[in-house]
Amino acid sequence: MLIVMKDHASAQQIQHVVDHVHGAGAETHLSKGEVKTVIGVIGEREIIYTLDMEGFPGVSEVIRVLKPYKLVGRDFQAEDTVIRIGNFQIGGGAFGLIAGPCSVESEAQMLEVARGVKAVGANMLRGGAYKPRTSPYAFQGMGLEGLKLLREAGDAAGLPVVTEVLDVRDAETVAEWADVLQVGARNMQNFMMLEELGKMRKPVLLKRGLSATIEEVLSSAEYVLKGGNRDVIICERGIRTFETYTRNTLDLAAVAAFKSLTHLPVIVDPSHATGRRDLIAPMCKAAVSAGADGLIVEVHPDPEHAKCDGPQSLDLGGFGAVAAAIDPLLLLEGKHL
Ligand code: PEP
Ligand code: MN
Repeated sequence: MLIVMKDHASAQQIQHVVDHVHGAGAETHLSKGEVKTVIGVIGEREIIYTLDMEGFPGVSEVIRVLKPYKLVGRDFQAEDTVIRIGNFQIGGGAFGLIAGPCSVESEAQMLEVARGVKAVGANMLRGGAYKPRTSPYAFQGMGLEGLKLLREAGDAAGLPVVTEVLDVRDAETVAEWADVLQVGARNMQNFMMLEELGKMRKPVLLKRGLSATIEEVLSSAEYVLKGGNRDVIICERGIRTFETYTRNTLDLAAVAAFKSLTHLPVIVDPSHATGRRDLIAPMCKAAVSAGADGLIVEVHPDPEHAKCDGPQSLDLGGFGAVAAAIDPLLLLEGKHL
């Protein structure tokens, strides 16, 4: 349930509503806009149905939400969420250009890629230390050593870093080294992990599951917000379809849909969505025009020798070209790096 307060409702009126809801045994989440305050009420259905808040002083409207998510919806918060990560922001016009290799391989590789992507405009570095590989015999990532190399490269280039939390048991360790915690497509519905990340205070980059619906993605994001962590970035990374020419099918309609359904920043991963280097530049441009708040692109100094996902990785020159190509489109969309 959402309790929409009248414009400029007083602090006492808001507190009165909150106290009443807590007294009944439900939780509240506050969204304070410029003029409007919305109180999200979360709790057992039976409790919520007995709450009769319409007549309370300062209450404008009570909306009974039938969707499986509340806090991530635009009804709860109309304005875009802006997430601060180090010295940059994402959302509300601020564009996140995230680049780096699929996996951390060595100190030299990371330093070269970090400095290279930073030089052409990237504002965050990616790199996997724990890799979710389809085959148990494929390279599984460097683990803790990889986290340290990622951090070192990010610091050297002046970029915050994002990396995947593959197992909830590693969450604390990853949070020690990374600025943003990535939940991979395969873990999008690992609800226990989402709950744990909800208790943490680091932004979460939530990738869409391989066959997750838009509503399922938003419900997963809701788990994190419900735990108290408001900083979630949604990532469209392609879904499974009958098409095999591309690795997955980039669902750009979902980007526009997410933008209208949720206030959270939405980014696109054209690398995993297409699996093909030649399609990355056009899909980056299309993503910006579809309203994306950012891109996460795989970039490797020497893609042919990458330990993971080389065929879908750009080299530094290719990434520079993409960064230049999206520049005028960002201007058209009213966004900035
Ligand atoms: C990744 O970004 O490194 C990755 C494994 O992506 P996904 O979880 O989307 O497959
Ligand atoms: Mn990859």
